[in-house]
Amino acid sequence: MDLAQRDQNVIWHPYTQMKTAALPIPIMRGDGALLFAEDGKTYIDAVASWWVNLHGHAHPYIAQKVAQQLQTLEHVIFAGFTHPAAVELAERLLQILPANQKRAFYSDNGSTAVEVAIKMAIQYWNNVGQPKRKIIAFRDSYHGDTFGAMAVSSRSTFTAPFWSYLFDVEFIDVPVQGQEEEALKQLEAIAVAGGAAAFIYEPLVLGTAGMVMYTPEVLDKLMGICKKYSVLTIADEVMTGFGRTGRNFASHYVQHQPDMMCFSKGLTGGTMALGLTTCSNQIYEAFLHDDKSKTFFHGHSYTGNPIACSAGLASLDLLLQEETQQSINRIGQQHNIFAANARKLQHVKEVRQQGTILAVEFEAGQTSYFSNLRDTLYNFALEQGVLLRPLGNIIYIIPPYCITNEQLEQIYKTILGMHELVANLH
Ligand SMILES: *Cc1c(COP(=O)(O)O)cnc(C)c1O
Repeated sequence: MDLAQRDQNVIWHPYTQMKTAALPIPIMRGDGALLFAEDGKTYIDAVASWWVNLHGHAHPYIAQKVAQQLQTLEHVIFAGFTHPAAVELAERLLQILPANQKRAFYSDNGSTAVEVAIKMAIQYWNNVGQPKRKIIAFRDSYHGDTFGAMAVSSRSTFTAPFWSYLFDVEFIDVPVQGQEEEALKQLEAIAVAGGAAAFIYEPLVLGTAGMVMYTPEVLDKLMGICKKYSVLTIADEVMTGFGRTGRNFASHYVQHQPDMMCFSKGLTGGTMALGLTTCSNQIYEAFLHDDKSKTFFHGHSYTGNPIACSAGLASLDLLLQEETQQSINRIGQQHNIFAANARKLQHVKEVRQQGTILAVEFEAGQTSYFSNLRDTLYNFALEQGVLLRPLGNIIYIIPPYCITNEQLEQIYKTILGMHELVANLH
């Protein structure tokens, strides 16, 4: 029995309707932006394997650092104990984050990084003796799949069975072009009413919403309102972090500094699961107390795992290299040229770009994730040897930074092919 069939006998895949899903594609090896399948086919990984991979697959430098760490210390309890990789990664990240970020709290993934931030925000207000209950979020946001993260995410079909279990959140519109004033007004009204503990947002790009983008200027205004009314700000940089938006962090585009930040995905270059929540001294100090009940009672078995942290350090070394920074710029420039051309096409509703992220939104009668168009486009790309995962009628690229211009051209060509399919449907 081949691997795909054995898989089908035992595995339950994420975000997959197992009844109708095609057999999964077994990948035996990765190298750079390429994935090598069991049947000899190769795929360009245009989505960085669910937005995590920064420097290409099976990167030898990360592999070497991880192997060294594995032979030195694979794991140690992180309460009462520490180790060099966790300390060094925190030191080096805090140096390049917005200057007010002073403390690093490790967890396992993006959802837990968000859970930690929400719990910190709520407990912060308890600890300072001004309990506040409300959390504010963007209506179309995505912050993860655990309960707290689901609660601050959009109320979509995906979470419908759980709605009644999710805590109330005040949602505001995403301040896309033309909607800025409305979003600002909504936030101000909630802030003025009082009781708002925190505003959590995906800075500049809402990934799962379909790479929906808004400007740093309006984000700065939103953050300004939060500062004015003492609403804590939580920048969820799980997707946007580590160069995705053209700068190391999307929060570097704005003047205001967030009170807390969440990271995962690219944190280890896509090698290991690791989550990180950072915060300012103001937050941290509210938990320092002789009264033990003010402690942040949260932790995961694998908190600060040395292997994950060493992958994080290796990925950071690579990210900060001149060559990688140039690649990030190069990808942005290539995207820019393609975007200008794609905007001229009929049946293209919008082309959005921010740094290495490019999204082409096709005009389509039906925009649902479940539409057949999505599957048709997905399969078409695979036939062309390109891994693209459309969100409904939105095609996006979020590539590893080592991707070559030739590989980018092949992805663009595939998107043009998709466009032809869409145009024929109209
Ligand atoms: C993917 C994502 C998460 C959740 O991260 P997981 O590691 O999948 O739990 C949270 N926030 C944003 C913005 C994301 O893109």
